[in-house]
Amino acid sequence: MNSSRIKENNSSWWKSEYEITNIDGIEFIVQMKGGGRSEYDPLKYKIPKKRPEVQSGQLEIAPHIAFSRINPDNHEEILQFANTWGLLGLRKTTTYSDINTVSEIFDKHNVAIEIHKIDDLYKNKNKPQGERDREPVIVFQEAIRKYKELINKIGNEYKDVGFKKGFRSKKELNKYMNEMIRIEDKTRNVPKKHKKRVEDIFTKKGQTLIPFLHLNEILKDVHPQVFPDIVNHSISKGWRFDSLLSAIYLRLTMDWEEGKEFIECTWRKCNRLFIPNRKDNQHCSDSCHNNDKTDRANQRKWLEEALSEFNSHSQSKIEQLFNSLIEAGYSGKVSILDEIRKRLY
Ligand SMILES: [Zn+2]
Repeated sequence: MNSSRIKENNSSWWKSEYEITNIDGIEFIVQMKGGGRSEYDPLKYKIPKKRPEVQSGQLEIAPHIAFSRINPDNHEEILQFANTWGLLGLRKTTTYSDINTVSEIFDKHNVAIEIHKIDDLYKNKNKPQGERDREPVIVFQEAIRKYKELINKIGNEYKDVGFKKGFRSKKELNKYMNEMIRIEDKTRNVPKKHKKRVEDIFTKKGQTLIPFLHLNEILKDVHPQVFPDIVNHSISKGWRFDSLLSAIYLRLTMDWEEGKEFIECTWRKCNRLFIPNRKDNQHCSDSCHNNDKTDRANQRKWLEEALSEFNSHSQSKIEQLFNSLIEAGYSGKVSILDEIRKRLY
């Protein structure tokens, strides 16, 4: 053990340089030949007081933030994450080291694979020692989706229920579950009288806890640990983890406990998750803030143009059409006016 390690109270993680390659029909994130190796503590990163100037600045703040922002369908973004924070360490998680779970993920995407030993999937034996680790893109993507879903379910959809303070009693837990069922019903629009009430409630109550099951399953992989702090003659408490993914979930839980919540950036062309540095901050970066301001000013101009050009139609009809186009991501006077014309005639 080298002396600098003694002062650290968390496990560390490491990263190298990565690329995505297709090996026998399956895409893997692999280490690049001769890529260096550097270590860091994924739990150490603090939310800065000032938001970043550009969106990509969020990627550098901390791994649990960067991970929430990846579009799982975008390989570039997956690589960018890996090159900033390393692989997820899926092989060392309870969830993704399970052959059945992993096989199901491949099945779901109709990719044929036979996994006999989980290590064969996560290690490339044809490569030199130290460069063998690899992670299948499909499993990495699944991990992203699960994480985002968790933040949305526990962190955002049900945030008014007060889960963050924990359930101090059975009564509170029941209140939480009933509230979740109420929200679900509202979103699904199920008429109450058509439900087999009792049966339904039991299955639904179970379902409301699924996000917590997932959270706790990943958290199984982290443990508290103590270190002797030789400098201060004391004991320091920290965390032991074997995968970046479990460190990410741990940090998410710690942030929730401290009342730090993920929100979506308000700019309609970003909408990515971030943890605001201040309560009144609704944008993940200065550039999103500025773009949003300009965009809203433009929208007012485009709407005016649309109203005057199509003044033979009712104002509310044009406004409605206009808003639906904005929501669908349309931009620019010409393309919006063209689209309105197409839909009117
Ligand atoms: Zn943004």
